[in-house]
Amino acid sequence: MATSAALMAVVPLAAVLFLAIVGGASVAAMLLDGAPVPAGAIAVLTVILGINVLLRGENFLRVRDAEADRAEKDEVVSMLLGEFEESEADWLWQIDTARRVCDPSMRFAGALRASPVDIEGEPFLRLILGDDWQNQEALPVHRQLAEKFTRRESFSSLAVRVVLDGNVKWWELSGMPAYDEQGNFAGFRGVGSDVTEQHESNEKIAYLARYDTLSGLPNRMMLTEALAEALRFAEKWRTQCALMMIDLDRFKAVNDSLGHLVGDTLLAQVAKRLNDAMDDNTFCGRLGGDEFAVVVRDVSNPRLLAERGEWLIELLSEPYSVDEHTLHIGASIGSATGPADGTTVEMLLRNADLALYRAKDERGGVYRCYEPTLFAVAEERRQLETALRAALQRGEFHLQYQPIVDARSETLMSFEALIRWHPEGGSPIPPDRFIRLAEETRLIVPIGRWVMERACRDATRWPTHVRLSVNVSAEQLLDPDFSGDVVRALSASGLDPSRLEIEVTESVFLNDADRARRAMEEVIALGCKVALDDFGTGYSSLGYLRKLHFSNIKIDRSFVNGAAQGNIESLAIIRAVVAMAEFLEMATTAEGVEQAEEADLIRDLGCTKMQGYLFGRPMNVSDTDSLFRMRDREPA
Ligand code: C2E
Ligand code: CA
Ligand code: CA
Repeated sequence: MATSAALMAVVPLAAVLFLAIVGGASVAAMLLDGAPVPAGAIAVLTVILGINVLLRGENFLRVRDAEADRAEKDEVVSMLLGEFEESEADWLWQIDTARRVCDPSMRFAGALRASPVDIEGEPFLRLILGDDWQNQEALPVHRQLAEKFTRRESFSSLAVRVVLDGNVKWWELSGMPAYDEQGNFAGFRGVGSDVTEQHESNEKIAYLARYDTLSGLPNRMMLTEALAEALRFAEKWRTQCALMMIDLDRFKAVNDSLGHLVGDTLLAQVAKRLNDAMDDNTFCGRLGGDEFAVVVRDVSNPRLLAERGEWLIELLSEPYSVDEHTLHIGASIGSATGPADGTTVEMLLRNADLALYRAKDERGGVYRCYEPTLFAVAEERRQLETALRAALQRGEFHLQYQPIVDARSETLMSFEALIRWHPEGGSPIPPDRFIRLAEETRLIVPIGRWVMERACRDATRWPTHVRLSVNVSAEQLLDPDFSGDVVRALSASGLDPSRLEIEVTESVFLNDADRARRAMEEVIALGCKVALDDFGTGYSSLGYLRKLHFSNIKIDRSFVNGAAQGNIESLAIIRAVVAMAEFLEMATTAEGVEQAEEADLIRDLGCTKMQGYLFGRPMNVSDTDSLFRMRDREPA
């Protein structure tokens, strides 16, 4: 039993079973023989041997586990070492107290493109930094590295720029001071790896996050950072900085007519021109679309800022040449100075934007700086927009009609429909104050649809020789369903198409002349007429008149008044337009005729129709009814 207990300790359960059987049997035999004392002794021996077997078994297992553990650890370590040996990127380095390389490994020497003998004993910093190594003005990380050596401090993952044979490499170095057996400082020891690739891809990502790819200029994010920095500087030194927001005029026209490729090339040229105009005090970037911005770090004088803004507009408005096209665009600038106009980046952005809006509002090509009233104006505009959105549903619009008469007989020929807005609980708002806003917000499309429908319906009350003129904005005309709207208005009212004349201004040709022309041809095909409104106030390209089939040219009030006051230019323009209209068989309508003398002059100049307070102010449709009733009673 004792022998088996000793030998079978590695299989403790079997040993215990064996002991239990043999011991149990012996004890039973002794007891049957009537010998209780030896039986007791054997029982005690069996129990002791059992305990012994169990304890040794457990011990044996523990040793075996520990052995397996160690073997596993050895495997991991050798695997790591193996990887380290295989990797090109990592190496060990060691320097002495004088910072000279000692015991260089092949790998470290390889990283320096040298052999170990060449670099043994060479100053470490010279090897990695080149001839610049003692330059105190060197990069901050180089200074940091030298400082760590001096202070005998360990460092980790320090990114160092290394120039090897003229190539820039990025190394990541970690190191710690080394001591000999006596505890004396013996230099530094550490690891290094080449992280050039990683560094370059990080740089690329950082670049993409901060630069606009199309123009190569800093993007919105970097611009706002530069602005924040300029603002901090201005606050600290009690100076002013500024943000100029630049928006290109007529860029959309180029983009729409010549395509995005030309548009993109144009933007890149604008960016280059702008960037070349920058100096130490200015920093430019692209906000997106055709919007750019300039951060001026130190504004000593607001007048100089304005001069600079105007100069930039001139510069950016010079013609561009893209492919075979010569392109003419302009620029508008709005500026805000900080901290005077705003103490945060957000406020400066918003206020410069308000000033830009103002500049655009003045038909572009100008520089405007922020004024506190602009904020009030913008706020008012916002409120107006909210009210305008609800106006159609609330039925706050109505139409008035102004007579247009024959220039010779002064008999009524047609009515021009003019929209009126009377907000609930407020005072009436004239169209000059809300049509622009409606156009900008495209609310003019549903509003114009309502005007067309209502005016056609009202016109059916008049005698059939009386025509109807309806004003149509560019946004409306260019809406894909414009001719559909006209058809629906005509068929719902039953108005004869030949009685409807739509009035468009030259601005319809500004963005997409081809589409405007197609839309016009569609309504002409329906049998309607098209008049050119406000002639002379816009871009006055007589070319439009030749190419498009206008039936009527409306000469703006300013020329009519000018001619009556003897203004030579006004007279010349009216004469020229009348001559051309006669040649092209178009009618001419003089607008804003208020005085009898004006009417006489216009008649002499040869205009065919007249409109103005002299013949009647805009009136409600019910009043037009009474006009005809009165006429009816008059003997012919
Ligand atoms: P417009 O098409 O040139 O309309 C003529 C404007 O001159 C009208 O101003 C009219 O009331 C005014 N007027 C007429 N005769 C005289 C006159 O003898 N003396 C003076 N001082 N003014 C005269 P209103 O109604 O304020 O309309 C202004 C502009 O709003 C219109 O100019 C037109 O461009 C636009 N508009 C009006 N109704 C509509 C509409 O339904 N749709 C669109 N898209 N625009 C509209
Ligand atoms: Ca008109
Ligand atoms: Ca007009």
